[in-house]
Amino acid sequence: MNSSSNFCSFRRSALFGWAVFINFVCFQKLDNQTYMQSVLSYHKITSRVDFGICTRTPKDFRKDVEFIAALPSEKRPIVSFDDGYTDTYEAAFPILSEYGLTGQVFVITDAIGKPNSWDANFFGEFQHIELSQVRELAQAGWEIGSHTKTHRALTVLSLSALREELETSKWFLEDAIGQPVTSISFPFGKFNEQVLQVCREVGYERAISISRRSQDGFVERSLAVYRFDRRAHLKAKLNKNKLELWRLQTINAFSTLTVLMHHINSFNRG
Ligand SMILES: [Zn+2]
Repeated sequence: MNSSSNFCSFRRSALFGWAVFINFVCFQKLDNQTYMQSVLSYHKITSRVDFGICTRTPKDFRKDVEFIAALPSEKRPIVSFDDGYTDTYEAAFPILSEYGLTGQVFVITDAIGKPNSWDANFFGEFQHIELSQVRELAQAGWEIGSHTKTHRALTVLSLSALREELETSKWFLEDAIGQPVTSISFPFGKFNEQVLQVCREVGYERAISISRRSQDGFVERSLAVYRFDRRAHLKAKLNKNKLELWRLQTINAFSTLTVLMHHINSFNRG
């Protein structure tokens, strides 16, 4: 193992420890039952060992869904999945179906059917969803959205590269499922005015970001659900509790930094 991967492992361990710490520091029992409609963002639903904090076990996910399904429909959050892993289809889809719910999945079109390139760990790679599985989810009433073509941070791209990310992923998915694709989730939650302008030009009607909403309401802030979240955290998210929103913001900032560093390391290694 070279020094770069040792450093990478160290960073992951540091992030893991830090997330455990902040989870306990920020934990608050808040349950005033004033849930506003929100988007909950999940990533991986798996029991596999993973150092990342974006993994939720099927057992915990089932508890979340049980809670969500029991809410009145006007207070029920949208259950959303970023990155489009196979476990969205294999684990989340059957659990949501069991409770009569559907979800939405934001797919990285160049990654379809491939192993994840930026998040591999000691325990192997995670696989991205197959196109046939995307079609099946669409047929089952799930919303299919774009998570861009290659999952780059959109705010650092040239105008032509930005248009390519937004437009080709949309066209690809529309062609695959035979339905309009009008939603996008921004990688790392990153967007600016130029990103929003091109989104509108190519026909997106709605976007979500794990970091913030936009003034005009085009971008809704989605609320990430992490590995250590308990029922009280889920309730605090749905209540838009300020401390929970701050906790999510902080975790997002650190995770984004880690992933971006990993991208840079991969690039430097060629
Ligand atoms: Zn992503």
